[in-house]
Amino acid sequence: MAMLTDRFGRCFPYLRLSLIEACNFRCSYCLPDGYRGCGAPPPLRVDEIRRLLAGFSALGLRKLRLTGGEPTLRRDLTEIIATAAATPGLQRVAMTTNGCLLERHAARWREAGLSAINVSLDSLDPQRFLRITGHDRHAGLLRGIDRALELGFAAVKLNAVLLRGLNDDELPAWMDYLRDRPVAVRFIELMRTGDNADYFARHHLRAEALERQLVEEGWTLQPRGPSDGPAREYAHPHFRGRIGVIAPYSKDFCTGCNRLRVTAQGDLRLCLFGEFGIPLRPLLQSDADLPHLVGRLTGQMTLKQAGHGLHQGRTGITPHLASVGG
Ligand code: SAM
Ligand code: SF4
Repeated sequence: MAMLTDRFGRCFPYLRLSLIEACNFRCSYCLPDGYRGCGAPPPLRVDEIRRLLAGFSALGLRKLRLTGGEPTLRRDLTEIIATAAATPGLQRVAMTTNGCLLERHAARWREAGLSAINVSLDSLDPQRFLRITGHDRHAGLLRGIDRALELGFAAVKLNAVLLRGLNDDELPAWMDYLRDRPVAVRFIELMRTGDNADYFARHHLRAEALERQLVEEGWTLQPRGPSDGPAREYAHPHFRGRIGVIAPYSKDFCTGCNRLRVTAQGDLRLCLFGEFGIPLRPLLQSDADLPHLVGRLTGQMTLKQAGHGLHQGRTGITPHLASVGG
């Protein structure tokens, strides 16, 4: 089967698809003033998503992540999950969510074919969580995570953005949380985007000290499989849970890139911090356009760069991650 590959020998079996730009949270590093995108074109419809996935599927798609914005704000989310799960060759349909509807709908999504879920949880302390996300939903979120664990998803992971002065002293609390729960928490280094330069200067923190602390406490770095993402994952024999670190500013972060992104309006993004989008929506209006879609996807791969320009402060056309599907 044809595979999407680039000039640097990387393959792209993994697509992150944003379902909607809007979000109901106001995370201080992402949408501190809430979502203000009135007038944006509507997001891709289910039939457009089906055609998009057929195009990627012809080029070796194995894993899809639904994201946003907040994907669970889509009323047709269950139908989208079922459509995605029916895509030939797709082995895993995952979703990243702020968890606001997890407790209520996790069972429905699981039944529709969702195989894995990432929930953003920046703090284990309810007051801090409120301060960071603007939402007082901490207890419901924790119940939602436990519900997802009962439902037997292939993976339940938690994302916590590491923020200097806001949540960088919580490792002991996380260890208590992970002792008996088979979940992986991922500490993500804050990324600079077009809108958050001042915030980044105040709160960005490298994960190195945290990794040193983990090793001192007996956690060991796990070997990385060829298709694993960029997280460095640590395990400990006395804990059911795992701890991962995603460090986009570390050397070689982009070497193992295996993912492409499509925005809620159907623009292909070759990099989270790229300088341009490639419109696919015109090719998603009829099943007969499949060969053209496949041709456009393959043709654009020569434009993918070796790495992002974050070290030089270049954040591309990404004002915040809600706009691309982080
Ligand atoms: N709304 C969903 C959520 O929050 O899980 C999905 C979209 S959100 C953009 C995806 C992930 O990106 C979240 O885990 C969020 O914490 C993370 N994120 C957003 N902005 C970020 C930034 N500037 N640096 C690092 N991670 C960021
Ligand atoms: Fe919304 Fe996710 Fe951005 Fe938070 S990180 S504002 S939940 S899109």
